[in-house]
Amino acid sequence: MTERFDSVVIGAGALGASTAYHLLREGQSVALLDRGRVVSETSPRAAGLSMQLRDDLISPIARLAVAKLLAFEEETGVPLRVHRSGSIKVARADADEAQIHEEVRRARENGLELDQISPERAHRLAPWFNPANAKAMWFAPGDTYMEPGDLPSAYVTAFRAGGGSVREHAEVTAIGSDAGGVTGVECRGGARIETGAVVIAAGAWSPVVAALADAAVPLWPVRHQLFTTTRIAGVDDTQPAVRIMDTRTYTRPYDGGLMFGGYEVDPLTTDLRTEGPAFAIATMPLDGAPLREMLAMVSEEFPSLATAERRELRGGLTTLVPDGRFLVGSLDPLDGLWLISGCNVGGLSTSPALGHHLAHWIATDERPEELAPFDPNRFGDTYLDQDSLREAAVRTYTHKYSSEEVGHGEVE
Ligand SMILES: Cc1cc2nc3c(=O)[nH]c(=O)nc-3n(C[C@H](O)[C@H](O)[C@H](O)COP(=O)(O)OP(=O)(O)OC[C@H]3O[C@@H](n4cnc5c(N)ncnc54)[C@H](O)[C@@H]3O)c2cc1C
Repeated sequence: MTERFDSVVIGAGALGASTAYHLLREGQSVALLDRGRVVSETSPRAAGLSMQLRDDLISPIARLAVAKLLAFEEETGVPLRVHRSGSIKVARADADEAQIHEEVRRARENGLELDQISPERAHRLAPWFNPANAKAMWFAPGDTYMEPGDLPSAYVTAFRAGGGSVREHAEVTAIGSDAGGVTGVECRGGARIETGAVVIAAGAWSPVVAALADAAVPLWPVRHQLFTTTRIAGVDDTQPAVRIMDTRTYTRPYDGGLMFGGYEVDPLTTDLRTEGPAFAIATMPLDGAPLREMLAMVSEEFPSLATAERRELRGGLTTLVPDGRFLVGSLDPLDGLWLISGCNVGGLSTSPALGHHLAHWIATDERPEELAPFDPNRFGDTYLDQDSLREAAVRTYTHKYSSEEVGHGEVE
């Protein structure tokens, strides 16, 4: 007998796990499917940082997400460790200095606690950071970090506890439809599930899964990497993350040591439509050389990083969008087909809010205003040419933190 659920979520990473949990909370029967184990691909390899000061469209999402992270146990009954130790953003270049002032102004306008700080204060907050070259800095005390696998794992636990159905090693290989829209999915091996709502939350595989329904997804997977160190004297988990704007790098406490990651100038891109079913993030080649180059550019800022023993080089595939904004909502051409992707390297920390809003839309058929800017169909035919899509996605990736960040400060 074929099973039936109100909705089927494809992909049990951060975005799928949050959506499945919130759909269950909306009263739906839900199956959460993953081609491998839950929380096994990009999500557990993230840095786990949140930054609430974003452009005027993403900030409300980032702020709701942090509020939900801080109230996670109250909401779901499952404990989650979140460090609310704030973040520091550092300008070393003249152009970036002006942006720091502008961001402080914008934060005030929006009631977000964030202030310009002195080098002395910055060093007190993060003793492993030498701010001597800083032209200007802000500190946002409410920003958070967490160990990345903890969040989606906690959502899966809450989903299971609430009666949600989790299927591992269930790769979706077909999406069924008729004139009325989506009718169900089929998994490798032949298992079928009937449903009127299919949510594609397949991370870097989203274009592969969308193609099963003749849908195009305007994102490109880009590799992003970081490394962690063993213990360093003076580091503890109450200290903030530090972002250096001109090198597009971030550093934060990690289990008594530090974590260092950054946006490469010439990142590796991958098209999973041509990789084949054996591709997995765990076996994706990593390359420490670009991180070493970035580290050399901030060696005065983080002297202990250069000499500390490395613990792990970590990387995953993030999903970049030409305008730097999420892809969340109903996906053409089928009724009942939904997408939650286009993370732009920020999908872990925002997953509580994005999953919450999307689930509400699916369950009530009313689009939350907050999701209006993230319509997955908004580009029309503009990026059907795959070379221009890839180029635009890489541009989004390589302009992070700067005043040229795609979508920075703009309101449509
Ligand atoms: C090094 C690094 C640092 C990062 N730092 C941050 C950060 O500080 N803050 C932040 O917010 N974000 C960060 N990110 C981004 C964050 O990791 C992503 O936005 C987030 O993990 C995206 O989650 P996802 O659910 O879309 O993808 P994934 O976690 O990859 O999950 C997708 C799932 O879909 C499954 N799947 C694929 N195809 C199928 C199929 N056909 N059938 C069934 N299942 C399928 C896969 O097996 C996988 O489990 C970072 C990423 C990296 C790599």
